[in-house]
Amino acid sequence: MIGAADYKYVIAGSGFFGAVMAERIASVLGEPVLVLERRDHFGGNSFSERDPATGIEYHRYGTHLFHTSQTDVWAWINRFTQFNNYRHRVLTRHAGRMYTMPINLMTLNNFFGVDLKPSEAAAFIEAKAASEGFDDPQNFEQKAISLIGRDLYEAFIQTYTAKQWETDPKLLPAETIKRLPVRFNYNDFYFNDIYEGLPVDGYHAIFERIFADPKIKVVCNCDFFDVRPQLRPDAVIIYTGAIDRYFDYRLGTLGWRTLDFEIERPPVEDYQGASVVNYPDADVRFTRIHEFKHLHPERKHSREHTLIMREYSRFAAREDEPYYPINTPADRDLYDGYAALAEREPNVIFGGRLGTYRYLDMHQAIGAGLKSFENELMPLATGAATASRQAAE
Ligand code: FAD
Ligand code: UDP
Repeated sequence: MIGAADYKYVIAGSGFFGAVMAERIASVLGEPVLVLERRDHFGGNSFSERDPATGIEYHRYGTHLFHTSQTDVWAWINRFTQFNNYRHRVLTRHAGRMYTMPINLMTLNNFFGVDLKPSEAAAFIEAKAASEGFDDPQNFEQKAISLIGRDLYEAFIQTYTAKQWETDPKLLPAETIKRLPVRFNYNDFYFNDIYEGLPVDGYHAIFERIFADPKIKVVCNCDFFDVRPQLRPDAVIIYTGAIDRYFDYRLGTLGWRTLDFEIERPPVEDYQGASVVNYPDADVRFTRIHEFKHLHPERKHSREHTLIMREYSRFAAREDEPYYPINTPADRDLYDGYAALAEREPNVIFGGRLGTYRYLDMHQAIGAGLKSFENELMPLATGAATASRQAAE
């Protein structure tokens, strides 16, 4: 028996957004909280586990790198884990050669066979980009070409993006390409953030420590919608599932990409020499290969074998796991319709990447959870939200 009717606070989903809310409700409000998770494990897409065959920890939903410049987020997560000093670098394999990704001076010089200095590189790329005439780039393709010019776009971005999104890059938002820095120096770090690292005991240990609080009860293999009829009428719900599903898809289905992962355990110590290698060409269907050993240089790993994961992207059907919001203009309009419906649900907080139809990194999901606790949950908990609504009526 779950005893759902005993709980004033109920959270649908145990990813970082749900975990932050559960932790805050238990520790700040001192109230019991029920977390319902439809999968057979908690931790959402940040879940990691040790592969029994090789002993290597891998991230079931793709490599998850923790990075942030938000000091409140960094302080919060450091209460539950230490981090190693891993800093992420990515390589990309184009036409049989390896290049640095994100695009930096090494990528540029190797690709064009030139020897530019940092002071010359910006003008070199600007001259290429200027001929395209995208002064005010409005979409992914225009933004990318305005940043790096057409040659680099066609080599490293166009086909990778076609594999990743299968959507006309003119319909993708410019924000998606802005996630990738472009640098005219030899800095090859993937992220610009102040803090970065991998949790030394894995992501799963973080969630185990958060949920160890006796005030928090987590029930896996349990869909929120199966339990909803048993909730008390004054329950405060934090919903981190898909927003269109909450409203029975009544306005339509939001567009998502899903991923398929193919695991292999090659009998070699090191398969590709790096934790992530991207494949931007059309001759292979996968977008990248992950090799998890490299994320933890501080660990002793077997020299006999390694574990790799090939990543394939495709459109998500309703029964698939939604991973990346596609965010076409039509999706944005549809989401606005659902957000308007969500405003009329007084005791429900919609959060996380599925509940707000946004691509969120882990630190952003944590930051959003910390903010939502202060700005949305606290007013509900203290009755301030009800009082201000009554005053407005
Ligand atoms: P989730 O982690 O998705 O958690 C939502 C949970 O709700 C899920 O466990 C789901 O099963 C559950 N749920 C849904 N519906 C219901 C229901 N009806 N009832 C009960 N439970 C339900 N971020 C980074 O910072 N660095 C990275 O390198 C990185 N790499 C990524 C790679 C990939 C391939 C993907 C897809 C994401 C990556 N992310 C990365 C983003 C990261 O996964 C998210 O920031 C994080 O998962 C967001 O947490 P969340 O709680 O919003 O959602
Ligand atoms: N991208 C690309 N080539 C690469 C890496 C990224 O074209 O080698 C594009 C792709 O469209 C991707 C976007 O840049 O969706 C953002 O990259 P990021 O690494 O943030 O994507 P993620 O790893 O989250 O898929």
